[in-house]
Amino acid sequence: MDVAPIGEDGTLHRWAETRKGEGLPQSPLSFRVGFGYDIHRLVPGRPLLLAGIEIPFDRGLLGHSDGDAVSHAICDAALGAVGLGDIGAQFSDRDPKWKGVSGSELLERTRALIGERGARFHQIDVTVVAEAPRLAPHRDLMIERLRALTGTELVSVKARTNEGLGPVGEGQAIQVYAVVLLELAGG
Ligand SMILES: [Zn+2]
Repeated sequence: MDVAPIGEDGTLHRWAETRKGEGLPQSPLSFRVGFGYDIHRLVPGRPLLLAGIEIPFDRGLLGHSDGDAVSHAICDAALGAVGLGDIGAQFSDRDPKWKGVSGSELLERTRALIGERGARFHQIDVTVVAEAPRLAPHRDLMIERLRALTGTELVSVKARTNEGLGPVGEGQAIQVYAVVLLELAGG
């Protein structure tokens, strides 16, 4: 069996190893999970930035920053996973210091913040909901960029439409959902 239950000390270990009485692995890892969500309005006259790359389109995402909803959702998920609140708490849009800051920079700063808590990105799974443009041709580049920004190879980006339903389906906004798994060094 390859089931990984949570041990009494909160660490994950293999069921099979426990059954064999071999105890915990030499370097037990501890994980934290976080969930993030973001939505930005699509408006003319702005570049469209997602996951730190610019995607050719006649509209872009409105926001205090560059509107990079993918980066923002991942930041929110990671900050939540280690109890640091959310992106608004760490990088308030009321603080002029963060005016126009890119999603890439926020992601790098979030990586540093969680690093101070002994955590690093282990896995990231993102769903982008956009009626247009088609994101599939840009997916590989988005994944490469996110790998570089977060330091994990385990990155997945999925893109879908909202089947024409609601404001996202009418092309007025882009929505992003992100789940991250953080690894805590030393358990
Ligand atoms: Zn945002």
